[in-house]
Amino acid sequence: MTDWRIPLSDLDYGSEEADAVQRVIASKWLSMGAEVQAFEQEFAAMQEAKYALAVSSATAGLHLGLLALRVGLGDEVIQPALNFVAAANMTAAVGATPVFADICSLDEPTIDPGEVERLISPRTKAVVVMHYGGSLCRMGELTELCAGRDIAIVEDACHAVGVAYHDARNRWPYGIMAGSIGDISAFSFFSNKNIASGEGGMVVTNRADLAERVRLLRSHGMTSLTWDRHKGHAGSYDVMSPGYNYRLDELHAALGRAQLKKLERNNQRRRNLLASYREAVRSLTGWTMPFADTIDNSSGHLMVIVAPNPEIRERAVDALREAGIQSSMHYPCVADFTGFAGGSDANLELTRQFTRRAITLPLYPDLNPDMINNIVEVLRGV
Ligand SMILES: *Cc1c(COP(=O)(O)O)cnc(C)c1O
Repeated sequence: MTDWRIPLSDLDYGSEEADAVQRVIASKWLSMGAEVQAFEQEFAAMQEAKYALAVSSATAGLHLGLLALRVGLGDEVIQPALNFVAAANMTAAVGATPVFADICSLDEPTIDPGEVERLISPRTKAVVVMHYGGSLCRMGELTELCAGRDIAIVEDACHAVGVAYHDARNRWPYGIMAGSIGDISAFSFFSNKNIASGEGGMVVTNRADLAERVRLLRSHGMTSLTWDRHKGHAGSYDVMSPGYNYRLDELHAALGRAQLKKLERNNQRRRNLLASYREAVRSLTGWTMPFADTIDNSSGHLMVIVAPNPEIRERAVDALREAGIQSSMHYPCVADFTGFAGGSDANLELTRQFTRRAITLPLYPDLNPDMINNIVEVLRGV
């Protein structure tokens, strides 16, 4: 609960979620059960992907994805500097070096394929892409770039659940779901995501070898008990590789299933609200809205607006706060954090401009559309 008159995001929770939790409590089975299995099947079906593996967070999913791809010591992973820090952290966790690439433009703040090409070295093992705000990266160009070079693509698909790739030329991979395009991907069900379960995530892949390794590493590297039982030595197991406990539990899986049922409707509500924002923002001089022309192809995860300059941005953030409207900024430049500074000499001029001028405004399925004019009027007054 917050004191904000208009919060940045809000859960669409009701009796469906309460029933889901109650169902698990009544079953007295809390982990490694039917809910996780059903959630994985339903998510894979939505993704039109072969494998979906539930994990404790997207960060855990990114870690497992990089490990499954055998990214490690001495390898480089090209990735956007405009991202949540999880991908860079997990790159470092496997012993590899993040190499930060700039965005295409302030109107298209996703990784620039031209910069990716420039940054490719003999040590490049993978490229992480992030579908900013729910609008997809230039996956056609990126796929072509990586395919011929034995470089894997990891999709940080946390913003882009339930949305397919489109491009104006209708070229491959047109119509494929975000998260099913690259080699492996991670989704998050953190509280503010389009599917929210508190904590939780999903790894998606079409590659059997990667799915098998993720399954193993997710649970201590242990061969599964069901497999063992099948082979006739229940109660005994082997550890195939050092692993982790990155499992999702039944309560979070049940919440995720209830939220997944609402996804299509809620993503459409988010897109409708973005379209209303777009109309209101058009009347503001000097302000722009990234991906304004492609709202229909977005999951509508974030409503982001770019101020004419950094000073106006600061004044706008103050005015919003005074009006009781919560705002945020996605994201600080990862290469400028103390823990990652000096690691990359890439040109991140556009990323840094974006971080000094962007504001994230309230957006959630139940946002009252009347509030949008109210929010934009505060910006006009600045
Ligand atoms: C939320 C988010 C993450 C981290 O997800 P967790 O489930 O909290 O680990 C990573 N990347 C992006 C782009 C996100 O939005």
